[in-house]
Amino acid sequence: MLAEPGPEHEVWLDGEFVPWSRATMRLCDHHYGFGVFEGVRAHKSGDRVGLFRLSDHTARLFRSAHILGIEIPRAFTPEVLDRAQVDLVRKNGLREAYVRPFVFHGGTSTLSPRGRDLRVHVALLAFAWLGGGGYGSPGEDGIKLMSASVGRHPNGLLVKAKAHANYMPAMLALEDARRSGADDALLYDQNGFVTEASAANVLVVQDGVLISPPRQVALEGITKDTVQVLAKGLGISVVERPMARDDLYVADEMFLTGSAVGVTPVRALDGRMIGNGQMGSVTRALSSAYQECVLGRMFEHEQWVHWVPS
Ligand code: PMP
Repeated sequence: MLAEPGPEHEVWLDGEFVPWSRATMRLCDHHYGFGVFEGVRAHKSGDRVGLFRLSDHTARLFRSAHILGIEIPRAFTPEVLDRAQVDLVRKNGLREAYVRPFVFHGGTSTLSPRGRDLRVHVALLAFAWLGGGGYGSPGEDGIKLMSASVGRHPNGLLVKAKAHANYMPAMLALEDARRSGADDALLYDQNGFVTEASAANVLVVQDGVLISPPRQVALEGITKDTVQVLAKGLGISVVERPMARDDLYVADEMFLTGSAVGVTPVRALDGRMIGNGQMGSVTRALSSAYQECVLGRMFEHEQWVHWVPS
């Protein structure tokens, strides 16, 4: 859950810090949903606040823009955007926070989303994070998933891009899942293979091996990458391969990863219990390692935390 910003709250728009109330758009901006974005978590660790894998998120923002053919104005280099995100968290006095960079086209002079003279805007918002992952308080054993009837097809959506429009099937599937009493949806590609949840990657544990769908079919999640690195450090084998729906039904453990949802165990898919329906030992080990890591308490991965100067 995010806190609604007050009027004093500052945001960053096209190179300047401005009050939330003055960061307005015109009605014609952002038609066609043509844009890309990111979601970065800042965590309070003792007296310090650190943004987790900030530069990796910024790098993905640039990759997403490149995939969509959006040219981020040259002045806004990755270093400029990293510094501005850190400053935004500091200026707003945030401790637990969620930072949302986004890039979009604005303009009035053409009906095409690709009109040559459309200006590219870059905005950064930072919200106070009020706790609870993306799923409220699911309890220690985790959430229930439902297979979506809407597809997530890599050739249509270019799923490596974290693009606004990519979320339409995901949001439709999420709403369907919620209406049916599940917490999130699992989406499949055109061949029926598992891709990911509405805004999180899916991983399973089978016979002690950590398995997830290949990178071609899902967003390259930074949390998933973190968990894979941590798993290798714990001596767990890590594999990426296509998975059918029934590969998931018979998994020993299943969990989702994402900057907002962290490591969230899954206890059921389509009404089938996963494993014994409780958080498994590998999920538990990876979840606690991930917690230590985002708080900058793991010496070997401290470089992943970008501390906010006090
Ligand atoms: N897949 C999708 C579709 C997402 O929106 C997200 C959230 N960014 C993820 C996976 C997880 O990515 P990350 O761990 O980098 O937050």
